[in-house]
Amino acid sequence: MNKASIVSIGDEIISGQTADTNASYLSRELLSLGIPVAGFYAVGDDIDSIVQSLNRASSDADIILATGGLGPTDDDVTRQAFAQFLGAELQFHNELLEKIQILFATRGRKMPENCRRQAYIPAGAEPIANKLGTAPGIVAKAKGKLLIALPGVPGEMKQMFQDSVLAQAGEFARDQAIEVRKLKCFGKAESEIAALLGDLMQRGRNPLINCTVEHGVITLYVIATAKDKRQAQKLAEKAEELLRSTLGELVYGTEEQTLADVVGEKLVQQNKTIAVAESCTGGCLAKLLTDTPGASRYFTYGWVTYSNAAKTTELGIPAEMIEKHGAVSSQVAQAMARNARKKAHTDFAIGITGIAGPTGASEQKPVGLVYVSVDSVSGCDTQRFVFSHDRDSNRRRAAQTALNMLRLKICI
Ligand code: ATP
Repeated sequence: MNKASIVSIGDEIISGQTADTNASYLSRELLSLGIPVAGFYAVGDDIDSIVQSLNRASSDADIILATGGLGPTDDDVTRQAFAQFLGAELQFHNELLEKIQILFATRGRKMPENCRRQAYIPAGAEPIANKLGTAPGIVAKAKGKLLIALPGVPGEMKQMFQDSVLAQAGEFARDQAIEVRKLKCFGKAESEIAALLGDLMQRGRNPLINCTVEHGVITLYVIATAKDKRQAQKLAEKAEELLRSTLGELVYGTEEQTLADVVGEKLVQQNKTIAVAESCTGGCLAKLLTDTPGASRYFTYGWVTYSNAAKTTELGIPAEMIEKHGAVSSQVAQAMARNARKKAHTDFAIGITGIAGPTGASEQKPVGLVYVSVDSVSGCDTQRFVFSHDRDSNRRRAAQTALNMLRLKICI
């Protein structure tokens, strides 16, 4: 099976100043073409280091895609490194210089002398047109491998990849196809999901099942490889069915769906409405719910009652209840949900109260303690959670957990 390697070039990448989004973009694009990525390499603006990385990258890949270092300044040395790697001289191309001059002229500017450098590419290589910037890319074939250099600027890189590289790379994916599906899960930790899946997550399997976690959302990637797209799709479909039957209601959606999207869809289908009363999440739940376009069809009202006084004056929570049980208690969460539903005249309401941290904990009430209540005509469900993360994560987890409780309650 033909594979690719990606080489990200630039001091700003290896110093951590710029996140390497080019590599993840190219990796996703190649995978959807049917070409798996064997490795990522990140290297500074130094000719010898780049040549070394190109050697390593080409040792286990058929396509080597490099980005960055094609600019006009002294630290942009990818051209020289490519020439050295290919064992070729850099050759001047007058037509490339003319294109760069025209680009400057159309912008009403005089071309700086150092831009002449961008008209050089290694002998035997071809330029790749850059519609958006001055730096042409480079494409070369060496020992049956395809070697490509694109600018580091993400917008230019993407445009050039789509316009000029996609078709050439596709040639390397003639007898291979990859189907990637995403299953979104919520309600258990990554380790618990892995235990439920057992052998299904073993390395070397086809389809391969990978997993990522963000704010409690577990994304399972089903990566199926076959000779053609139909076969790959069939394999992925079977694996998806197996995952769904193993994980049951832990699976809430697919691809880019959020919990708020899924909850929103169900509320619309059932013609139901929702209000929220938040304390520790400070409006995060209302934000997540209203991030989904069309949320006005079901989201009516949100209170952020951060102080005890606000809980009493805005939601009618008795001061004695707060005094007796504390603002972070199941009783207060329940009263927040119930009173919010009554006041907003909705079908569902959620109450959240907790300690986001890092301060505010006591011996009985640790940082990350959160009570979530979901009230509806069928009753009020309240659950206690302890999220042991930082302030931001505790708030996000609390809001996501509330959405998940609502999802499960709507489904009943
Ligand atoms: P230029 O003509 O702008 O000099 P270049 O090909 O030399 O283009 P770089 O100078 O390496 O590209 O990078 C230009 C910009 O692109 C910088 O702002 C940099 O942060 C960004 N960039 C470079 N490489 C990456 C990458 N791998 N992922 C995301 N952004 C990147």
